[in-house]
Amino acid sequence: MMAAILVAGGAGYVGSHTVIKLLEKDIDVIIADDFSNSDERVIHAIEAITGKTVKSYAVDLTQKEEVRRIFDENEIIGVIDFAGFKSVGTSSKAPLAYYRNNLEILLNLLSVMQEQGVYHLVFSSSATVYGNPESLPVKESDKQKPTNPYGQTKVMSERILRDLAKSDERWSFISLRFFNPLGAHKSGDLGENPNGVPNNLAPYITQVAIGKLSELKIFGHDFPTSDGTSVRDYMHVDDLAEGHVAAMEYLLTTSNKFSGFEALNLGSGKGYSVLEILRAFEQVTGKKIPFEYVEKREGDAAESFASIEKAKEFLGWEPKYTITDMCLDTWNWQQKHPNGYNEA
Ligand code: UDP
Repeated sequence: MMAAILVAGGAGYVGSHTVIKLLEKDIDVIIADDFSNSDERVIHAIEAITGKTVKSYAVDLTQKEEVRRIFDENEIIGVIDFAGFKSVGTSSKAPLAYYRNNLEILLNLLSVMQEQGVYHLVFSSSATVYGNPESLPVKESDKQKPTNPYGQTKVMSERILRDLAKSDERWSFISLRFFNPLGAHKSGDLGENPNGVPNNLAPYITQVAIGKLSELKIFGHDFPTSDGTSVRDYMHVDDLAEGHVAAMEYLLTTSNKFSGFEALNLGSGKGYSVLEILRAFEQVTGKKIPFEYVEKREGDAAESFASIEKAKEFLGWEPKYTITDMCLDTWNWQQKHPNGYNEA
């Protein structure tokens, strides 16, 4: 058996890009995913892009025996956990499902890791842990005040990791609080592929550009920002994937002698308004993207962007791509696969 990294949620948008980066570094990967918000064809896309075969498990990670089976059948040396529900809106409507699913997956992974003596985990957290930022740029030491159950599951998950790290110095955890991922794989064969009408900005805009949706609804026009629309920190999914690989490598490098828990922001460190993103997509697609202003979403911050100094220092990681790169790659993916992984 080859020593491998278990990527839970490895068929998802960020997970799949991270798997590619690991494979490109000749690091063996096992994917575990329930494919509830992804597609088995992602695995084929990963294999076609990298020219490598990937072992994957279609499993419900809330079932501990399933998690145990993966560890029994493979030599896992570290875990990257992307698995979980991620819709802010749905989390407020179905909090129990969010708490149960997101926490149970992490607890199962950690329990089985403990049984098997595997002590390194990189956790996908989120900028939603901060809620409405008190000051900008957002720093890791800022207050955590999530405004929805989704964000709460991330705060609670980090709490669990912190407490566990204190109980036994063999544990080493890095939690990556990511801001807004954008873009797709350079090949155009892997990208964000939401089920139904997209919640997030970029897939919504590209579906308008390609004619599947009629116009973008911009949530709010009177925020205290330069043009009245809300400002977020967008980073290329490839940069985010690099950040996950750098974090895993950091944990596995014994000379770092790292033990405990560390939370790091991953973003570009810059803020862009909804209108700025829309204009960038118009330039790249050469199309006019119609929009209308609608009500703000409840709890939405006017402005949020990250301080990425800590991640730079800790991991030696730095984002490489510009907004134009992100829009170009998203558009390339959307044009090549207008129906996601469905060819029809
Ligand atoms: N947004 C928008 N219309 C949409 C989706 C998003 O105006 O259909 C805006 C939203 O207000 C925010 C930005 O786009 O300023 C990013 O929203 P998203 O939901 O993608 O991420 P988050 O709010 O979690 O940062």
